[in-house]
Amino acid sequence: MINAKILVVDDEIIVAQNIESWLKRFGYHVPAIFSSAEQAIQHIKQEKPDLVLMDIHLAGEMDGVEAAQQIRTRFDIPVVFLSAYADTETIQRALLTEPYGYVLKPFNIRQLRSTIEMALFRYEREKKVRDREKRFRTVAAGSYDWEYWLGPDGSLLYISPSCVRITGYSPEEFIANPTLLVTIVHPEDKEAVSEHLHETHEEPFAFSMDFRIITRSGEEKWISHRSQAVYGSSGEWLGRRGSNRDITESKRAEKGIIQQGKFFRTIIDTIPNLVCVRDVNGRYIMVNRATADFFGVTPEEMLGRQISDFIFNPQDAEQFQVGDQQVIAGKKVITSEVCYTSPDGRKCWFATNKVPLVQPDNTTYIFEVATDITEIKQTIDELARSEERFSKAFHTSPLPTIVSRLSDDTILDMNQGCLDLTGYSRQEMIGHTLVELGVLPPKNQERLWRMLKKRGSVSDAEITIQTRYGEKRDGLVWLELVEIGGETCVLGKFYDITSRKRTEEILAHTVAELGRSNKELEHFAYVASHDLQEPLRKITSFIDLLERQYKDQLDEKAEEYIERVVDGAARMQQLIADLLEYSRVGQDELSLNSTDLEAALSRVLSNLGTEIEENRAVITHDPLPTIQANESLVDRLLQNLIANAIKFRREQTPHVHISAEQKGGEWHCSIQDNGIGIDPENTGKIFMLFQRLHSREEYPGTGIGLAICKKIVERHGGRIWVESKPGQGSTFFFTLPSA
Ligand code: ADP
Repeated sequence: MINAKILVVDDEIIVAQNIESWLKRFGYHVPAIFSSAEQAIQHIKQEKPDLVLMDIHLAGEMDGVEAAQQIRTRFDIPVVFLSAYADTETIQRALLTEPYGYVLKPFNIRQLRSTIEMALFRYEREKKVRDREKRFRTVAAGSYDWEYWLGPDGSLLYISPSCVRITGYSPEEFIANPTLLVTIVHPEDKEAVSEHLHETHEEPFAFSMDFRIITRSGEEKWISHRSQAVYGSSGEWLGRRGSNRDITESKRAEKGIIQQGKFFRTIIDTIPNLVCVRDVNGRYIMVNRATADFFGVTPEEMLGRQISDFIFNPQDAEQFQVGDQQVIAGKKVITSEVCYTSPDGRKCWFATNKVPLVQPDNTTYIFEVATDITEIKQTIDELARSEERFSKAFHTSPLPTIVSRLSDDTILDMNQGCLDLTGYSRQEMIGHTLVELGVLPPKNQERLWRMLKKRGSVSDAEITIQTRYGEKRDGLVWLELVEIGGETCVLGKFYDITSRKRTEEILAHTVAELGRSNKELEHFAYVASHDLQEPLRKITSFIDLLERQYKDQLDEKAEEYIERVVDGAARMQQLIADLLEYSRVGQDELSLNSTDLEAALSRVLSNLGTEIEENRAVITHDPLPTIQANESLVDRLLQNLIANAIKFRREQTPHVHISAEQKGGEWHCSIQDNGIGIDPENTGKIFMLFQRLHSREEYPGTGIGLAICKKIVERHGGRIWVESKPGQGSTFFFTLPSA
């Protein structure tokens, strides 16, 4: 090493100068020559030489060995001894200082040079090694991880100080107790760690594993371990170096992330929406339970597969893929409503959101959230249909119908019937009120609204409205409160009763007219029959006079004429009497009293004594009730009917039976005979005035009897009718109210 600085320490000055001259000749630099160790050390403190040539025996207090010791340890400068002594003791002492050479005097100049060169070279090499080791140790000591080195025999060669921070045990404790490395491993991981230490002993490959340790303070820590074989520069195996990293925090975070992941997974699997992520090729990389359930598979079965593997309808699959492509191409969110056929054939509607997830490396995924809106759709469709039905029913109803807002009476809608009724157009009505249009008088409106607010609805309220042309229309109104679009509205229907009202009015008028004319007629009949009696009586009395005074002067013909006049007058009298009676039935106020029908029957039979006797009629009856009626009229009624039953007899003995039966709130009385009977065609006609089915010669009579009966029954609020078969007798029925 040319220019190396070599300090020469020798108390023999001649030798020293000789050496110096040789050294200079070899190209070394000799800064100084000292004869004592103290001087040399003093100099070295000031200026460090590369090597010291040291004589062992020196003049001063300190000999060369001791000086060399100090120079090595204090200044780390290689020392080569120069000595004339080769005794064992001196050499032993000298060797203890680990000298870089030992040259015996007298020395060969070449030997000195080679020793110096060797010493300088060795020192340089060792320095490099030491520096490297120092650097390594500095790094290892300062390393955050806990580093160690196991020798080929398993002994712990090195352990970095960071083991204290991680384990709580010092490097010295580990060195002193080689099994501590395994002792502190968590019981559950101990087997795996021991196995690894054993198995990997001579493995050339790197090995890694995570395990837990229990620190000195009893804390559990996660360690990420990595080890690999260490080889020397010539390839010899030097054991294994290990690096243990404290990953407790990241494990905790990882656990947190895993738990968080599980938490989100649970949420995603719990929500009813279909959630999934697909790659650009449409392959599923995440699906939630709802998605898998929809397709009838497990989430795992969907991973890596495409929609076309699950949707059987090709058009659906195509529509789906087009949507995906749009998301990828436009890198934008696409929201749409789609209809898919589920594997079990149902039509399902989804509202989907396809979101592009662009990764830092520009890879795009499609995140999709689909909500099943089938039920909502069906409800909306159903509502639309029902709305359509309602609308049709509303608009086509012949009943004029109108919808107005409750708060301000504004008309919102109406049907054609309403437009036809009022004469207004749709535009004229909408936005106005019925009062404004003059359709409804304000008072009527107030009355209706009061009823509506009180009862919640109005039905059959009679009102009069006015059309656009001033025409008044009467009707019945129904009002109901209905909620339309969050507003309370009034649905009103109008039933036009104008023509019915007019008919009723006409009818009432006609009835009144009829009653009045009947009354007049009855009065006329009464007056007429009463007044007719007078001239008739005159005729009868003069005929009687004529017959008596001119009896002998009249011939047979005249007598026959007189007889006819008498007969005619008698009939006339009967007719007038009957008519008078008929008109009297309706004349007076009807007074009702408790009338015993059996008593009435006795009186009648007594009156008819002659007829019964002459005809040998047999009259029977059931028990008869007491009723509320006009006694004299009831007598008349029974008498007329029983008299007819005897009169219209056949050859056989007349049998008349009277009975009464209570039905509902009235008595059904009947008079049954075994007489000639009546043709069913004439059963209605015989109750009319003067209607007779026989000639006077066959059966006498005026044809007024049954008309009187009808009038009596009807005045009591009853009915009269006959059931008969010609030749088999007749039964006359009449009803009278129960008492
Ligand atoms: P009249 O007895 O004076 O003829 P009515 O008014 O009592 O008048 O009866 C009208 C007609 O009804 C009778 O002419 C007769 O033809 C028929 N009629 C009434 N009662 C009977 C009866 N019991 N049997 C058969 N016909 C009868």
